[in-house]
Amino acid sequence: MKVVFVEKPHSLEIREVPVPGPGKGEVLVRVRAGGICGSDMHIYHGTNPLAKYPRIIGHEFAGEVAALGEGVTEYAPGERVAVDPVTSCGTCYPCSIGRPNVCERLEVFGVHRDGGFAEFVALPVKNLHRIPSDWSFEKGALVEPFTIAANVLSRTECSGGDRLLILGAGPIGQVILQAARRLGTACAVADIVDVRLEKARSLGAELTVNTRKDSLEEKAAEWTGGAGVPLIIDAVGSPDLFPSLLRMASPAGRIGLLGFSKEPSSFVQLEAVKKELSIFGSRLNRNKFPEVISWFSGGEVKPELLVSHRFPFEQVREAMKFIEDNPSEVCKVILEF
Ligand SMILES: [Zn+2]
Ligand SMILES: [Zn+2]
Repeated sequence: MKVVFVEKPHSLEIREVPVPGPGKGEVLVRVRAGGICGSDMHIYHGTNPLAKYPRIIGHEFAGEVAALGEGVTEYAPGERVAVDPVTSCGTCYPCSIGRPNVCERLEVFGVHRDGGFAEFVALPVKNLHRIPSDWSFEKGALVEPFTIAANVLSRTECSGGDRLLILGAGPIGQVILQAARRLGTACAVADIVDVRLEKARSLGAELTVNTRKDSLEEKAAEWTGGAGVPLIIDAVGSPDLFPSLLRMASPAGRIGLLGFSKEPSSFVQLEAVKKELSIFGSRLNRNKFPEVISWFSGGEVKPELLVSHRFPFEQVREAMKFIEDNPSEVCKVILEF
C-alpha cells in the first residue's frame, strides 16, 4: 500500500509499505479521505515541537472497515468510520478526571504514532466512530476539525448568551464560528484576509475586522459598548496578540488559547487580576466525536462549507505547496484515497 511518509523534516514522499494486519482489538480501515491540517504542514517543515520522526502523517481521516482483528465484534466490513486521533492511557491524573486529550502518555495518530494518510491503517477499535452510510468520506474526515471547536467551546463554557470574538478566520476559526453560531452566540471575527472575513460574515459573524486596516481593540470596544468582550478565542496563536486579548476582555471574561507557539507572550498580571480573567488552553478533543457526529446528522453545522480544494493523495506535496502559495483562496484541502 502507499503512504504519505515524512522521513525527517523537509523530506516527504509517497512510499510503498506492507498493509498492516489488524492486531487484537484493532480494526483495519481502508482510508478514503483525509484533511490536511496546519500541523501536518508543521511536521513536514520540522516546526511542530511535538512530532516524532519518521512518521506517516494525517490525523483528520475517515474510511471504511476492511478487516477485524481478534476480539472485535462491534463492526462489520464496509461500515464507514471517522477516527478520533487521540490515544490515552486511561489511568493517569488527567485521564482519571475525564481529560484524556492531555494524558501524560498522550499519543496522537499522525503526530506521535503513524497516522491516516495511508491506504490502510490498523487502529484500536475504541478510536473508531461509526458514521452514516450516506455520508461522504470527506464529511467523515471533517469531524475531527469540528471536535477542536467543540472542545474549546466547552472548555470556555461558551453559551448562547455570550459574545465571542474569534481571532483568525482560517479553518479553525471557521469551525469555532459555526459551532458557536449553532448555540446562538453573537460572534465577531478578526483576520487579515478579506475573503476569509466575507466567509465569516456568510457563516453568521455580526462583526468582522481586518486587522491590517482597522484597530481590533477599537472595533471590539465599539461592538460591546465599551464593556469588553466576555469570551475571546485565539485561533491564530501569535504570542504578540496576547496582551491585546487581556486588554479587550471584559471583567470576568474568558480567553481560550489554541496556538502552539514556543515564544513567550508578555503578560500584565494587573489586567488578569483586576478583571478576574480565566485563561483556558484547549488541545485536541476530549471524547467529542459523538457530539460532533450528532451536529452533522442534525444539520446544525455545515461541514461542506469548510472544503475548498481536493487532491488525489499521491499529489500531497502539490497540495501542500498550493496551500502555502494561496493562503487567501484555500480553506480545508481534502486528500482522496
Ligand atoms: Zn488538525
Ligand atoms: Zn492518561
